[in-house]
Amino acid sequence: MIDSFRLERVKYVPKELQPRVLYVADEFDIAVHLCACGCGTKVTTPLGPTEWRVSDANGGPTVVPSIGNWQLPCRSHYVITGGKVLWAGQWSEERIKAGRNAEQHRREAYYAARAHDRKWWVRLGKWLRGLFRGGRN
Ligand SMILES: [Zn+2]
Repeated sequence: MIDSFRLERVKYVPKELQPRVLYVADEFDIAVHLCACGCGTKVTTPLGPTEWRVSDANGGPTVVPSIGNWQLPCRSHYVITGGKVLWAGQWSEERIKAGRNAEQHRREAYYAARAHDRKWWVRLGKWLRGLFRGGRN
């Protein structure tokens, strides 16, 4: 088992991954590491407002939310915080589904908020155009 990670910022993710290294390729907005259970599987986490976020403080990388490798045979689930791996234990099917739903809600809330912002801009644009029309007439 891997109990700690260090952050390495790279342009491209190397072919041969080292254990205990969390590679962040900013250009592609992904982080890649070898599964912390030691099974050797490459785990890719997309980074973004609705995906994973990586910060580097307190002696090592912190990745949120937790990393659940449900699709892998090992089904490992852990949190990387301050470079340390904390095991979250095995989740039941229901818990996994609930987690997925929570993720889905988070995404929907994010895009709804953005759509709301856009509507606000559209309204502002209309109002401004109205002003100019009014001015000319
Ligand atoms: Zn594994």
